[in-house]
Amino acid sequence: MIYLKTREEIEIMRESVLLVSRTLGEVAKHVKEGVTPIFLDKLAEEYIRDNGGTPAFKGYKGHGNVPDFPATLCISINEAVVHGIPTNNPLKDGDIVSVDCGAKKNGFFGDHAYTFAVGNVKQEHLHLIENTKQALYKGIEQMVSGNRIGDISYAIQNYAESFGYGVVRELIGHGLGRNLHEDPEVPNYGKRGDGPKLKEGMVLAIEPMINLGTKQIKHLNDGWTVITADGKPSAHFEHDVAIINGKPEILSTYAYIEDALKSK
Ligand code: MG
Ligand code: MG
Repeated sequence: MIYLKTREEIEIMRESVLLVSRTLGEVAKHVKEGVTPIFLDKLAEEYIRDNGGTPAFKGYKGHGNVPDFPATLCISINEAVVHGIPTNNPLKDGDIVSVDCGAKKNGFFGDHAYTFAVGNVKQEHLHLIENTKQALYKGIEQMVSGNRIGDISYAIQNYAESFGYGVVRELIGHGLGRNLHEDPEVPNYGKRGDGPKLKEGMVLAIEPMINLGTKQIKHLNDGWTVITADGKPSAHFEHDVAIINGKPEILSTYAYIEDALKSK
């Protein structure tokens, strides 16, 4: 069932979402060669708690025998697509690093992601990052009242595939609100005019996961980390977007990240 949000609820949500945006901005200040993912994770957890929130991914229930997710951030490096568990292995020059963060505040969730380049990254990999971010904005443009989920999906897929990239099928975007994952599902592939109709008050986490090579994925033994089947890199961007006055309004922002990256 799709929960449409009132304007008041969206304003409360905006605070949760911006807490995540600011947390990613703090993380951005420290993303560089030699820093460990665990350091970034501790920093993010502290920042969220200091600002009245709770990490949304920490303790997230695993399926079957898989242990609950142990961290505040999903840090997915190079061939890792999403759901990477932060480790003590320092970031290396040339890595591309997707950082996904979720937080709950005042009963609502924020959940978004950005892919960083560490030091000197291959041109081909920088293009993958930039084009994945653009694919996200192509999807967001379609989030207008009267369109359907498939219009968002198609726009992302069509743009990403124009570069020959693989669009991951098994992992998708989602509704967001009092739950981290709500209906509707928002696949990054699909047909125009398919799926649920987009309506005023809908809030979606749109999140293309785009692979340089094959769209096929594999799971690591930790039960969480998803990697590309061919070992080539993958990028991931996510924004939280509401339909207000029939049009998409991006509740999250990369401004804190961009400021941090500029002043490095
Ligand atoms: Mg998400
Ligand atoms: Mg996310």
